[in-house]
Amino acid sequence: MSELLNFNYPPESATERVTLFADVILPLPLPKLYTYRIPYEMNDDVMVGVRVIVQFGGKRVLSCIVADIHENAPADYQAKYVLDVLDDKPIVTAPQLKLFKWIADYYMCTLGEVINAALPAALKLSSESRIQLHPHYNPEEDELILAAQEEKIIFALQNNQALTFTEVSTLLQGKSYHKYIKSLIQKEAIIIFEQVSEKFSPKVVKKVRLTEHFVQEEGMLEELFNQLTPQPKQLDVLLNYLQLVPVHQDINLNYKGIEKGALVNNPHLSASSINTLIKKGVLEQFDQVVSRFPMEKDPQQLPMALSEHQAQAKDEILGLFKEKDSVLLHGVTGSGKTEVYIDLIKHALESGGQVLYLLPEIALTAQIVTRLMKVFGDKLGVYHSKFSDNERAEVWQGILAGRFQVVVGVRSSVFLPFHDLSLIIIDEEHEASYKQYDPAPRYNARETALVMASYQGAKTLLGSATPSIESYYNCKTGRWGLVSMTRRFGEAQLPEIELVNVREEQLRKNMHSHFSGKLLGAIEERLHREEQVILFQNRRGYAPFISCDECSWIPKCKFCAVSLSYHKYNNELRCHYCGYHERMPHDCPACGATSLKSMGFGTEKVEDELKLMLPNAEVQRMDLDTTKKKNSYQQIISDFESGRTNVLVGTQMVTKGLDFEKVSLVGILNADTIINFPDYRAHERAYQLFVQVSGRAGRRGKQGTVIIQTRDPKQPIFHKVQTNDYQSLYDHEIEERLRFGYPPFTRMIRITVKHDDERNAENAAIVLAKDLADRLGKQQVLGPEVPYIFKIRNLFLQEIHIKLPRETTNLKAAKREVAQAIFNLKLLPDFKSVRVVADVDPM
Ligand code: ADP
Ligand code: ZN
Ligand code: ZN
Repeated sequence: MSELLNFNYPPESATERVTLFADVILPLPLPKLYTYRIPYEMNDDVMVGVRVIVQFGGKRVLSCIVADIHENAPADYQAKYVLDVLDDKPIVTAPQLKLFKWIADYYMCTLGEVINAALPAALKLSSESRIQLHPHYNPEEDELILAAQEEKIIFALQNNQALTFTEVSTLLQGKSYHKYIKSLIQKEAIIIFEQVSEKFSPKVVKKVRLTEHFVQEEGMLEELFNQLTPQPKQLDVLLNYLQLVPVHQDINLNYKGIEKGALVNNPHLSASSINTLIKKGVLEQFDQVVSRFPMEKDPQQLPMALSEHQAQAKDEILGLFKEKDSVLLHGVTGSGKTEVYIDLIKHALESGGQVLYLLPEIALTAQIVTRLMKVFGDKLGVYHSKFSDNERAEVWQGILAGRFQVVVGVRSSVFLPFHDLSLIIIDEEHEASYKQYDPAPRYNARETALVMASYQGAKTLLGSATPSIESYYNCKTGRWGLVSMTRRFGEAQLPEIELVNVREEQLRKNMHSHFSGKLLGAIEERLHREEQVILFQNRRGYAPFISCDECSWIPKCKFCAVSLSYHKYNNELRCHYCGYHERMPHDCPACGATSLKSMGFGTEKVEDELKLMLPNAEVQRMDLDTTKKKNSYQQIISDFESGRTNVLVGTQMVTKGLDFEKVSLVGILNADTIINFPDYRAHERAYQLFVQVSGRAGRRGKQGTVIIQTRDPKQPIFHKVQTNDYQSLYDHEIEERLRFGYPPFTRMIRITVKHDDERNAENAAIVLAKDLADRLGKQQVLGPEVPYIFKIRNLFLQEIHIKLPRETTNLKAAKREVAQAIFNLKLLPDFKSVRVVADVDPM
């Protein structure tokens, strides 16, 4: 592949018959780019960053991105022709392509894998792609100038929900149809989508308007008034309509009408009168297709005035940005970091650049989006994994078209087509969910965003109440600036944190199942005062495993080396690694005894028991099982926000970014499994989790309380959490990292070797580890070893850890060696079918 970013092609003389070739990125995990020949007549249209349609292999027709244009025919194969060009303008920008290349190199994957993760499916076309009318477009109403062939397509779409490309081709009798589709997309008359299952179903609202002749013909309205005088209820509705839709000022307003619900916007108006008026032919009902992004055209709210501390933090940040590209905002929970971000975003927009606001998946609640929407109105785009593909494509195109200048989104937003970023905010920067584990690219959005910022000359603000050790280290060494906010906003104080010794409570017979008397009493007290409670347990399901009391049998997953978790609501045993599930047996399959007992406890059991112990409490659970549907997460939050529920039980999901006025108690049911996790980050993680979940207590007004249940309250970490002593956590952790050679002092690569034959996996790992040690040095390579969970989805696992000293390693060269070693391993006949995965900077 030649230089990736060759934007100067085609040269000015392109109209001459120069033979040009395009290197394209296919959305497939291919090790290199494929070269296609550009037909002369397309020389002017094929540009770097546009999508072209090509044939790949025997029959597949795919769309792909042009990464380079040049005059060199491929040496070892005959280039096929580019079939068509889909875009007039690049849909992937120059800085994006550069970033994709960095991701592929750094995280050791292919460009195809990056493109595949980056592009919304609606932008990845194949011969089975379909089109349908754009939800904003109403062919009856909107006047667009259409070519005859375009009219034909639109007409066909009015009668059919959707057409495949093949059908369009038939419709136009084989004429080249891409240009018409392209033009219709540009006019926003149609949209494209990929899979039938993801078919765009437009969002429809029910509206009413006056039947046409009442507004068109003189005197009709007066007559109508006279007619309706004996029916005051109907008259009221009519008067309200005229007030909300003043057709006497502008007849055209009638066309848009009003939503039915909005018309009866006060209690003395009756919805049944609307129906009577429809029956009489006074009003007519119609459906309107609306955008999925409810937009506030005119932002109604100015940002809140910053407090003195916030304003000071903001000034410090701006001051530091003069010398440094990145600044870490270390602000305690409730210090009002969001308002500081909003202020900085406004500042950045005023100078004309784009802004990306990254949030971890879980924290991207309606709360924050609503807040931002109010300030930034329709300049704000939202990018979320729960969005449909079309919504994602809408955001992508909206950024290219300049419609969205601020985007708030989850980790995959680093793939969006920005070209002029001036500010990136990485909120909750310590969050592990910024890292994608599977599939490739196994990227960390925090690191990727920092690189993206450097490519586009943007500043990066990272924020957290509990910064990652690596980020804090970057401040200590002077690479980044550091700004602290040590107080909560307003009168709010940090919560008081109490420890309950579960071992002692058990001896005193003061445990009610998993609740200490203290915690239970505290919950009751809050309910009594009409305050709210959050309970945290880091396991979902009812119980992590069940066991036979007679013979100690424990059900395990058929495919993974883990016990099956018991889920009571559907009476199922379920594997949390592969999703395998079976019915909960009635009696022990091993000995036949009917004495199966659930062991340990998860969120479902906490919810269950609490409902029994406190029958008056409205308890709701928030975990992976209760938030699968698109809006369920929001629903749970809004129920809690409005006070319909008073106890929220959940996993990690309840720990972050949520801000509820009435939560005055947070309970952590079992702190020990979190601290004792076998990983060098366990203490950092535990600290972050405890502080973050504690941060939900007592946010406004008076001080909240946190109760932590543990069997070992003497663990030093608790004292650090109680005194909010991040500094001492950092000092301790950084020393350990230095002593044992962990990040930030080393870069790690975790190699996982997988095979369905246990011996074969082991042998392959031994051979690979030896080769790696020869290439990189013995000190650098640890293992292979069998991971704690040694089998997942029927594949046996072996792990090798590579630690590369940060100061002295040429990282690029080392990765080349790693790639070569993996490549060589797979050449050996025994290990051809072994899967090897490299995870760079694993978390
Ligand atoms: P953090 O993200 O630092 O934990 P938040 O941004 O959630 O804190 O702010 C905590 C609470 O204080 C929120 O309810 C927020 O609305 C309120 N708040 C923060 N700053 C201001 C301000 N300048 N004016 C009014 N309310 C504020
Ligand atoms: Zn048994
Ligand atoms: Zn499994």
